[in-house]
Amino acid sequence: MSEQGLFGQFGGSYVPEDLENVLKILTEEFEKAKNDPAFIQEFKEVLAEFVGRENPLTYAKNLSQKQNGAKIYLKREDLNHTGAHKINNAIGQILLAKRMGAKRVIAETGAGQHGVATATACAMFGMDCTIYMGKHDIKRQALNVFRIELLGAKVKSVDAGQGRLKDAVDAALGDLIENYQNTFYLLGSAVGPHPFPTMVKFFQSVISEESKHQILEKEGKLPAAVVACAGGGSNAIGAFSHYLEEDSVRTIGVEPSEAPSLTEGVPAVIHGFKCLTLLDEEGNPKPTYSIAAGLDYPGIGPEHSYLKEAGRGEYVTVTGEEALHAFKVLSETEGIIPALESAHAVAYAMELAKELDKEDIIIVNLSGRGDKDVQQVFEMEHGS
Ligand SMILES: *Cc1c(COP(=O)(O)O)cnc(C)c1O
Repeated sequence: MSEQGLFGQFGGSYVPEDLENVLKILTEEFEKAKNDPAFIQEFKEVLAEFVGRENPLTYAKNLSQKQNGAKIYLKREDLNHTGAHKINNAIGQILLAKRMGAKRVIAETGAGQHGVATATACAMFGMDCTIYMGKHDIKRQALNVFRIELLGAKVKSVDAGQGRLKDAVDAALGDLIENYQNTFYLLGSAVGPHPFPTMVKFFQSVISEESKHQILEKEGKLPAAVVACAGGGSNAIGAFSHYLEEDSVRTIGVEPSEAPSLTEGVPAVIHGFKCLTLLDEEGNPKPTYSIAAGLDYPGIGPEHSYLKEAGRGEYVTVTGEEALHAFKVLSETEGIIPALESAHAVAYAMELAKELDKEDIIIVNLSGRGDKDVQQVFEMEHGS
């Protein structure tokens, strides 16, 4: 196992030797790219021209008044092209793939959001794109499968195992081992073996880079807390990263009560890295059932596992019901329909606001917009 990519006891790279070599090359290329001003400039340009950054830090005045407590600000990742933070990372990795001379990009997707972000970035850069998806998920996510195809990518159905996300990951890794000479594996969250958690954090850190200078401009001081939902942990680590060195700023990750990896998980290796993980009685990753598909992951990024253990990060849970309530409240009070994932962060911030002083500031990372969830919420209310 490599010495790099360790966050305390977490992270690392627990993979077969073939893959170890591929990841070593990727690590070296990423290190070079991130220190190359031309690479960073191109990344920033594409984020500006294609994604629409920088996005606003919106004061949620009505919601703050309703809670009668701290000032709540929303970092508007929902306003990005394709409607969530995932595109930041997809653009960063596509530029790295291009730099490494890859002709082909592969990715896995469960709910389809990462598949759409990857296919979007591939269309923009003229890359051949294959998305692995479990056959069970293909059935549930027909519209996202169609979106991916509209964007010119291929969807490969994975029949092995239970035909779910985990099986799609295995199929994508198999493809990578076979085709690594011309293929780039674009991973969607701050998980997986080194260097992925470090790389994804780097590309998503644009969120807190922006929000920090925005809040200093607007309020002349740092927030008391930054709150973000955590599935694999990419929007959260990006929203936290520039505040981690500020002792006065609390960073709070919100997990669904139905998939509380950090609150109830134990150290274990899944998908090639070590993290706090929910296991079943036989020691296998436990299936989870959050109303927010993007939060349905039994593990969590290694850096969050470390921040929790080191006591630097706070991690809490919110139920699906509480998230659904926040989904409605934010829609009614601010005219912003959040993704169900993001609604978990909003729900916690609404409670936290009541506990803090009126001069305090809370930044909520609004990881995505709720358009994708409207039908699901409709069916939950009215029956399908
Ligand atoms: C995918 C997704 C998430 C969860 O992923 P992280 O890696 O934990 O950020 C959260 N919010 C939205 C809108 C998503 O699409």
